[in-house]
Amino acid sequence: MNKILNNIEFEYKVDIKNISTFKTKGYVKGVFYPKNDIEFIEIYNFLNENDIPFYIIGNGSNILFSNKSKNIFLISTKKLNKNIKIKDKFVYCSASPMLSYVFQKTFSKGLSGFEYFANIPATVGGAIKMNAGAHGKCIFDYIDKIKIYKEGKVRYLNKSQIKYNYRTTDLNNCLILSAKFKLNELEKCKIYSNYLSFLEIRKKSQPLGFSAGCIFKNPPNYSAGELIDKCGLKGIKQNDAQISNKHANIIVNNGNATFDDIITLINLCKIKVKEKFNIYLELEIKII
Ligand SMILES: Cc1cc2nc3c(=O)[nH]c(=O)nc-3n(C[C@H](O)[C@H](O)[C@H](O)COP(=O)(O)OP(=O)(O)OC[C@H]3O[C@@H](n4cnc5c(N)ncnc54)[C@H](O)[C@@H]3O)c2cc1C
Repeated sequence: MNKILNNIEFEYKVDIKNISTFKTKGYVKGVFYPKNDIEFIEIYNFLNENDIPFYIIGNGSNILFSNKSKNIFLISTKKLNKNIKIKDKFVYCSASPMLSYVFQKTFSKGLSGFEYFANIPATVGGAIKMNAGAHGKCIFDYIDKIKIYKEGKVRYLNKSQIKYNYRTTDLNNCLILSAKFKLNELEKCKIYSNYLSFLEIRKKSQPLGFSAGCIFKNPPNYSAGELIDKCGLKGIKQNDAQISNKHANIIVNNGNATFDDIITLINLCKIKVKEKFNIYLELEIKII
């Protein structure tokens, strides 16, 4: 290992339970924790240049680790600087803060936008990559521009230069370093009452257990959860993995679920929905 790696915090053989919200059984080869963008870029370049398999992880809330993950390294953004600056309606934010934290900061300035996302357990970087969204809004509704590292260069992209759609963007093979958001001024009491109503909707409709949120994207004009429910699959178990009784598009890990348990339920949903409705369910979660 060279000098770069000596400076960057590294943990060998990390339990998946500690790095993903699904908390499945298994481990990854190791996790790098850069502290700032310079280290983030250095370790990214090093792993690329040496053809070492790796993956970038934010809060690990949209990831299912496969049995191959024991052979890969991760670069975690969890310990990167958490910078948030607010000027007028604009919010400048690094990749690492959680959306709930950005909500706290922007709410305190009477800025509306992040109340829609405050309960998504995501980092800013992960939310941008996935174009996360809820309650009819997505993160790209508020993006003004972003800063990325790609092909050896730091680049600034205006929103119009990025392709994004429902739970997807073309931000591949790059590091998302920071973003500038444009929010709206609104009375604090209105922002907060919206936040509480979104929280209530979530409590009523989603399970509390370990999960990665929705497994599948909603097919155009359909709800994936409803399709799975109509196939009679709510509550079905495979060992410790279970299709939630509350929300059929969420699989929960009741304690010791493995990748194989979860993938069995994923395949069951896909097959049954295809058979009954002739609709193909596309994964929202990333399997690595
Ligand atoms: C309980 C629960 C509720 C959820 N509710 C919602 C919801 O309402 N709406 C919704 O859209 N999603 C929801 N999700 C899914 C998930 O939170 C989102 O997809 C979120 O955007 C993932 O963010 P993350 O930081 O956890 O990213 P991760 O899961 O760690 O990574 C997601 C992707 O982003 C990439 N990535 C992360 N950071 C960077 C970076 N800095 N640079 C480049 N690439 C990066 C990763 O490589 C990966 O491809 C939910 C998940 C859970 C567990």
